[in-house]
Amino acid sequence: MRIEQNFSLEKYNTFHLPAKTRWFLEYENEDDLQKVLHDEYFQECLSLHIGKGSNLLFINDYNGIILHSAIRGMEVVREDESFVWLRVGAAEIWDEVVAYAVSKGWGGIENLSLIPGETGAAAVQNIGAYGMEIKDAIETVEAWNQLTFEKHVFKADECGYGYRTSRFKDPHQDPHFVTYVTLKLRKQPDFKLEYGALQDVLKGKEITLQAVRDAVIAIRQAKLPDPEVLGNAGSFFMNPVIDTAHFEKLRQQYPDIPSYPAPDGKIKVPAGWLIEQCGFKGKKHGEVGVYEKQALVLVNLGNATGDEIALMAESIRSAVKDRFGIELMPEVKYVA
Ligand SMILES: Cc1cc2nc3c(=O)[nH]c(=O)nc-3n(C[C@H](O)[C@H](O)[C@H](O)COP(=O)(O)OP(=O)(O)OC[C@H]3O[C@@H](n4cnc5c(N)ncnc54)[C@H](O)[C@@H]3O)c2cc1C
Repeated sequence: MRIEQNFSLEKYNTFHLPAKTRWFLEYENEDDLQKVLHDEYFQECLSLHIGKGSNLLFINDYNGIILHSAIRGMEVVREDESFVWLRVGAAEIWDEVVAYAVSKGWGGIENLSLIPGETGAAAVQNIGAYGMEIKDAIETVEAWNQLTFEKHVFKADECGYGYRTSRFKDPHQDPHFVTYVTLKLRKQPDFKLEYGALQDVLKGKEITLQAVRDAVIAIRQAKLPDPEVLGNAGSFFMNPVIDTAHFEKLRQQYPDIPSYPAPDGKIKVPAGWLIEQCGFKGKKHGEVGVYEKQALVLVNLGNATGDEIALMAESIRSAVKDRFGIELMPEVKYVA
């Protein structure tokens, strides 16, 4: 087990904020995690389990214990004519899992190529992109209850999955640490190619898992900044879902407003469009910027602090609220 004191989290958050944590603790296996859970000092301290920090905003130094898993490995635990069940350690880099599945000809996660972060966090977040969500490929999530110290194997339908959420993010549920995720992947791919951008890139090409993965990577690289080059956490806000009456009122004023159907007859509006309409695209304030190709992405231009990024986010939120009457909710988790 690795234990560090006053540890810089600069390499553990994709905004590359130089926040420090009082303690950093990395466990190698479930036995070590059990020891941590039973430790009285750990129980008394503020703690947070992180992955690669690609969805986190550290507002200041963390006066507690940051926990990180080093559990890796991918293993086929079951197989039949149609499916393969792949059990993956929580610390496996998600995109490496996608690359592996695609190389084996197993479908179900190819549209989720190049999403930063680790596999445990992917299951916590219910990552999604280009018409696919990880929940549809999840068979089980293995997780340890921080309060009872017991392990539970959650079936996908017990994980409380919704848009970028799960029971593992729900403050009303017992906190859990994810150690393994088992994916159920298809031997005969069922391609999801409804997204216009994906269709455009794939036009005239033979549709294979690798072709879809390559197309997704090309689209993402063209429109999203590489966190290694320009610190960011992807989409800063979630796409808001509003009721039809509100949407119709807005459409009278803004006939071009884009929209997608959402559950319960509601309407999803792209947050990026709302932010762009408020004039924020490409704007800079000090060391914080709104990415010039995608207004939904806030970037660290060099030496931004978490506070400054939060301030920019607040200006955006209030401008969108004033103009459209829509409350944007951050997708990024603020850590104070
Ligand atoms: C450039 C860029 C593009 C992105 N594009 C997308 C996208 O298309 N779709 C999408 O859905 N997301 C996207 N994201 C967001 C991000 O990649 C995902 O949310 C990802 O799953 C976060 O993984 P992580 O390992 O960095 O987790 P972190 O950011 O470290 O943590 C995320 C959450 O998971 C919890 N957590 C992490 N590991 C565990 C564990 N083992 N057990 C329990 N809880 C845990 C943390 O406490 C936190 O609440 C993007 C981010 C960036 C920077």
